[in-house]
Amino acid sequence: MSQIRSIKGTHDILPGDSNRWQRLEQVVHQVCRQFGYREIRTPMFEKTRLFARSVGEETDIVSKEMYSWEDRDGSSLTLRPELTASVVRSYIQHNLRGQAPAQRLYYLGPLFRRERPQKGRQRQFHQFGVEAFGSENPEQDTEIIALAWHILSECGLSVNATLHLNSIGSSDCRSAYKEALKDFIRPNLKQFSETSQRRFETNTLRILDTKAEHEKKLLEGVPLVSDYFTDDDKIHFDSVQHFLNAMDIPFALNPKLVRGLDYYSRTVFEFTSPVLGAQDALLGGGRYDELVETLGGKPTPAIGFAAGMERFLIALESIEKTESDPKPDIYFICLEEDGLPAALSLCQQLRRAGKNLVMDSLRRSLKAQLREANKSGAGHALILGREEIESNSIVIKDLEKGHQVTVLQSSLIEKL
Ligand code: AMP
Repeated sequence: MSQIRSIKGTHDILPGDSNRWQRLEQVVHQVCRQFGYREIRTPMFEKTRLFARSVGEETDIVSKEMYSWEDRDGSSLTLRPELTASVVRSYIQHNLRGQAPAQRLYYLGPLFRRERPQKGRQRQFHQFGVEAFGSENPEQDTEIIALAWHILSECGLSVNATLHLNSIGSSDCRSAYKEALKDFIRPNLKQFSETSQRRFETNTLRILDTKAEHEKKLLEGVPLVSDYFTDDDKIHFDSVQHFLNAMDIPFALNPKLVRGLDYYSRTVFEFTSPVLGAQDALLGGGRYDELVETLGGKPTPAIGFAAGMERFLIALESIEKTESDPKPDIYFICLEEDGLPAALSLCQQLRRAGKNLVMDSLRRSLKAQLREANKSGAGHALILGREEIESNSIVIKDLEKGHQVTVLQSSLIEKL
């Protein structure tokens, strides 16, 4: 029979790797708790409408990357391609605004996008991220940037990472800027790629995001969004920079940073890492003051970021020494079938006493089981054979030093 293999762009996280995932997850949980963020978990699939309306019809994600299908009742459903839309939906649906004027939430989980797989780009990948609802003030922007910075620092990644910062202004500023941008591009529009020509009408700002060298040339001397800031946009962005300086978080202003999704306004930012190669974005985010209202909630300012966990782990690989799996304290060897009830009862007691313990279940020879015990890295092996069963005793073997003692089962925990 032919073997069934995993789907292109999806990856198994094998036991040798899951340890690293757990450590990253622990850092995320710990730092988010430190900053007063609480975890939210939303379903893996939602109505297609949710993403079309929030992320934007003309974005890459919605126009070509979503895994969508028609359900039996005819409704269109989609595997979540990002999490902000789901979190906002949940925030509105459960009136989280009513519970606290400032809601600080974080999440971790898998996402699905039908992209061309390459290093750091998968079809099922994982993100952690935060969303802060309720405050329009710049200290909220810098709080979430600081949170990202803390996670990067805890992982040892902040030394190499660069924080790119920009503001794309409020909606008034953006509509004036869009017109100026169109006026600038229009005379050369035919020389732009098909994608950019399509974006010209529907998602003009995204053209700035181009990776094509000939387009970058065409964009030389392009007007900057900062020339169109309202007074409030300017004050907001100046304060963000001032606060980041006060917190000793270095950043680079990048006037062409616009980010891929439609819902952003004002502050946008990205952390990149040079070790990632072509897909160098570790984490990206920004303010989205109009999204809650767009999705049917009361106008609520908000800001968030999302980070790619696979990319964090790739970046970590380049700086950390390989760490082995956690080792058990004890490897339990039972050599007789009729000793199993006593053996299992002892294992229970030891685990209750806090020991990490593995019990052999293959019923092989003493020699084979001891080999396995050594391989597991356990500090001690416990051996229950015929003699020990008859005398209610058990052998404790120190696997490092090689010596062993026989003790009464009743005093085992104390002896260990
Ligand atoms: P986005 O939701 O597109 O703003 O992406 C936020 C972060 O998720 C990026 O900075 C990447 O680290 C990560 N990311 C986005 N798309 C993928 C993908 N297809 N595979 C792996 N990581 C991704």
